[in-house]
Amino acid sequence: MSASHPHGEFQLIRDYFQQQSLQRTDVPLGIGDDGAVVSVPAGHQLVLVMDTLVAGVHFPVETPAYDLGWKSLAVNLSDLAAMGAEPAWLTLALTLPQGDETWVEEFCRGLFELASAHNVQLIGGDTTRGPLTITVQAHGLVEEGKALLRSGAAVGDLIYISGHPGEAALGLALLQAGQQQHLSFAHLLSRLNRPEPRLHLGRALGGIASACIDVSDGLLADLQHICDVSDVGAELQLHQLPLSADYRAVADSEQPYKAALSGGDDYELLFCVPGQRQAEMERLMEQSECLLTCIGEITEGNNIRCLDANGLEYLPDSLGFNHFVE
Ligand code: ADP
Ligand code: MG
Repeated sequence: MSASHPHGEFQLIRDYFQQQSLQRTDVPLGIGDDGAVVSVPAGHQLVLVMDTLVAGVHFPVETPAYDLGWKSLAVNLSDLAAMGAEPAWLTLALTLPQGDETWVEEFCRGLFELASAHNVQLIGGDTTRGPLTITVQAHGLVEEGKALLRSGAAVGDLIYISGHPGEAALGLALLQAGQQQHLSFAHLLSRLNRPEPRLHLGRALGGIASACIDVSDGLLADLQHICDVSDVGAELQLHQLPLSADYRAVADSEQPYKAALSGGDDYELLFCVPGQRQAEMERLMEQSECLLTCIGEITEGNNIRCLDANGLEYLPDSLGFNHFVE
């Protein structure tokens, strides 16, 4: 504990972190000592991911504590999903403006609900005073050499997206526009604050996908990351984008694809599948709990071309996140 901590207050808060009912058998030493001790199974590798959420930057300051607990873990589990890893443990660095016990209790409720649903145990962390900032590190396991990477896409691979991209960005847009009364608001806001990490999908993609990334900065921006490290280009068929009814009810009719292509916070998986794996891919699509849609193909070059239903090229005017709402 550092000298700036008011003891009692922060000790009480630490108590909340010990309340998770889930106890994994591979954690001989969890919260309470100077460090945690975990057992890594033979033949496996650790996959480590970390994401920070800063109040006012990554989420509106009035976001409910429960949602922040959920989301701060969900964005990390989404990275593990994109690596094809099975999550096991997490650590939490929490910076709080004051020792608000009610806030921490709600935060832990959201965090533990998602953690326990995926058999992930909180094994340690750090608590400090300062502007509200949440850093989670999640630790996952993959069989040796089996991690899914961004770098394996090849010309001719088909490009798929899970779920409905763009909904989270439209939820944020409605919130910022003060349109809480909109019929689609509750659904779109839940997509912003309670993303469902696609862990089952990520693990099922091992042996099927040639490259995979989770979409956090926008579909085009994240597809460009695959193109850059795989040294390929891409062609997207915009009329194939899985735009939901709630999405269509809110999106700008003049730029109907913009939020799906450039909006942030989707936490869907974007992945590529070679031709010889299409049969397995079709089987996966029948079994998958989330919608999987083919939206294009990997090409030569290094650019992404977006074509509309008439085969005309569509040029997104920016990768920005604002002004999605009509
Ligand atoms: P130290 O001074 O040795 O770093 P601390 O007093 O900061 O120890 O923490 C005591 C114990 O509480 C440690 O096991 C630490 O991992 C755990 N802990 C502190 N903050 C958190 C947190 N935000 N989440 C989970 N565990 C925490
Ligand atoms: Mg110590």
